Amino acid sequence: MTLTGIGYDSHRLLEGRRLVIGGVEIPSARGLDGHSDADVLAHAVIDALLGAAGLGDIGEHFPDSDERFRGADSMRLMREVSAMIAAAGLEVVNVDCTVIMQEPKLAPHRQAIRENLATVLGIELQRANVKASTGERIGFVGRGEGVAALAVATLRSAG
Ligand code: MG
Repeated sequence: MTLTGIGYDSHRLLEGRRLVIGGVEIPSARGLDGHSDADVLAHAVIDALLGAAGLGDIGEHFPDSDERFRGADSMRLMREVSAMIAAAGLEVVNVDCTVIMQEPKLAPHRQAIRENLATVLGIELQRANVKASTGERIGFVGRGEGVAALAVATLRSAG
């Protein structure tokens, strides 16, 4: 059995916040605003994983009204989701994602992000793909107001 899920997220860019994408802190004057570390890519991947497993969405499992998740490391939350998937008798085949960010450039950090995803999900590097796109200076991403991320995850029965 093969299952597919989709994920999408966006966060506002603000002065004085850290820019964390896929567990990698990227040097930037502005970062992503949110209750947790606002790791937009991690959130999109988590939703894709939960979607494929039929386990709802990120807000259901890690509500932003919950003080436990204030400033939370979203890759740690992804690790919890990875455990939920295993408990459901499933395993990750691959994830593919796109980060849509006007600046800074994601390219220098892409490999480190892939390694983080592959490690947390227990898959080969080849199965954790990360792509980057700019906003072409249009829309909220292009104007530098925020960052968006899309993800697709495929799971299969374990064993
Ligand atoms: Mg989010």
